[in-house]
Amino acid sequence: MTLLKRSPGAPRAWIGNLPVTSRYTFGIAGERFFRAIKDEGKIYGSRCEACDLTYVPARQFCERCLADLEEWINVGTQGEVHTFTLLYENLDGSVREEPEIVAFVRMGDGGIVHRLGDIAIEDVAIGMVVEAVFKPKNKRKGSILDIQYFRPAKS
Ligand SMILES: [Zn+2]
Repeated sequence: MTLLKRSPGAPRAWIGNLPVTSRYTFGIAGERFFRAIKDEGKIYGSRCEACDLTYVPARQFCERCLADLEEWINVGTQGEVHTFTLLYENLDGSVREEPEIVAFVRMGDGGIVHRLGDIAIEDVAIGMVVEAVFKPKNKRKGSILDIQYFRPAKS
C-alpha cells in the first residue's frame, strides 16, 4: 500500500521508512555568491540604491522595494562582530572539549554567521573587526565552509 492508496478510514500512521529526497539549490544570486567565494576568494553584496542598502550575502531582489538588484559589490573580507555565542556541544549532542565561538559578522547591511578562530574566548568583543580565512583554492567546494573561520583583522 502506498500513501496515496490509503483508505481514508485507515489509521494515520506509517510503519517503516519513507523515501524522501530533496535537492537544495542556491538560486541565481546564491550561485553567483558562492561561486565568487570558491573561485575568487571574494565576498559579494548586492546594492539597492533606492533603499540605500547593501545586502550581504548578495541577493537577487531587494526585500523592501522588490527591485531587481543588478549592482554587485565586492564588500571585502572583513566585517565586525555584531554578536557571538559559545557552542558547548557538537551536532550529535556530545560535549566539546573546548567551546566553539560562533559570531554574526556584520558586512554591509547584512552579514554572515560563522566560526571565529585564532582568538581566545575572553578576547572576543562586540564590534571587533575580523577577517575571513579561506580554505586553499583547490579545497573549496562552493559553500560557506570555503571560509574556514573569521579571525581578528591584522590591520
Ligand atoms: Zn530597495
